[in-house]
Amino acid sequence: MRNKVKDSIGNLPLGGRGRVLITGAAGFLGSHLCERFVEEGFHVIGMDNLITGDLANIEHLFKLENFEFYNHDVSKFVHVPGKLDYILHFASPASPIDYLKIPIQTLKVGSLGTHNLLGLARNKRARMIIASTSEVYGDPNVNPQPEEYWGNVNPVGPRGVYDEAKRFQEAITMAYHTFHGVETRIVRIFNTYGPRMRLNDGRVLPAFIGQALRGEDLTVFGDGSQTRSFCYVDDLVEGIYRLLMSDYPSPVNIGNPDEITISQFCEEIIKLTGTNQKIVYMPLPQDDPKQRRPDITKAREILKWEPKVNRAEGLKITYEYFKSLPKDKLEKIEHKDFTSYNKYEF
Ligand code: UDP
Repeated sequence: MRNKVKDSIGNLPLGGRGRVLITGAAGFLGSHLCERFVEEGFHVIGMDNLITGDLANIEHLFKLENFEFYNHDVSKFVHVPGKLDYILHFASPASPIDYLKIPIQTLKVGSLGTHNLLGLARNKRARMIIASTSEVYGDPNVNPQPEEYWGNVNPVGPRGVYDEAKRFQEAITMAYHTFHGVETRIVRIFNTYGPRMRLNDGRVLPAFIGQALRGEDLTVFGDGSQTRSFCYVDDLVEGIYRLLMSDYPSPVNIGNPDEITISQFCEEIIKLTGTNQKIVYMPLPQDDPKQRRPDITKAREILKWEPKVNRAEGLKITYEYFKSLPKDKLEKIEHKDFTSYNKYEF
């Protein structure tokens, strides 16, 4: 994990590079972005309603002069006093189980929240980047997925609340760009992992590592042949930073193209953790994408960006983080599978 915040704080121009609003500040990606912008010498205003975020992720920033925090739900009117140079909209539930638990909030933060923040960006003449997602491609029919692919999304399936909110988010962001001239950027984020992921959010990496640490069997959904491509968080943050500072308003994929099946991934976690537990197979959740891998040609060409951290390195750092969590966090399991949430089939 980056420790530069602590190490370099004495030499910072303390907020002199401008004022940045980061929504979802207490979440996994938001907290890493807060750190990065503080390190770069910006004044960071974090905002989060703490539904899925955790103040523990940003507690170390509170003592800094160039960091402040608002506990606020951005799907309601947002106001920030003073000038703003950049807005990073990263507030949203990000796990398929969260979409089932809090579907309406998921829709609202991507749609109403984005609208409010675009209004704020217009008012303050700030540049805004939105956190879009590989989910705009749905269960893709082309692999890898380039930005030109329009996707294959089920609007009324369990993931629809997230996918369609994010697709609307892209549409309204583009409209504010073309109609109101707001400077906007759109990053399509593929599966990302690293320290500060929520151990119990139901996503595959925290699920497997949590199970290994608690001495439980590892749950593979379906036959495990579906693929994902996992990007380490520091690489992702670098890509986002470069995109925000670029002049490119169309969507850009940021992710690691190193594709792996979920079965292979499970084997890697078993090896990493040294667990003696076995793999158990559970039903594949509805609309679970069969393949996912970013085409990062645009990021390479426009941002001169590509991931630097390979999975072995990234997983080691992430495993150390999960091992360091207090026992009560490790034992707190919110959900084991999707069955209790899938009330209706479509
Ligand atoms: N998955 C799994 N076991 C788990 C959790 C997830 O096999 O305990 C699978 C899930 O079905 C999907 C993949 O791992 O195919 C990635 O799931 P995740 O929830 O992390 O995010 P997604 O990429 O589907 O949004």
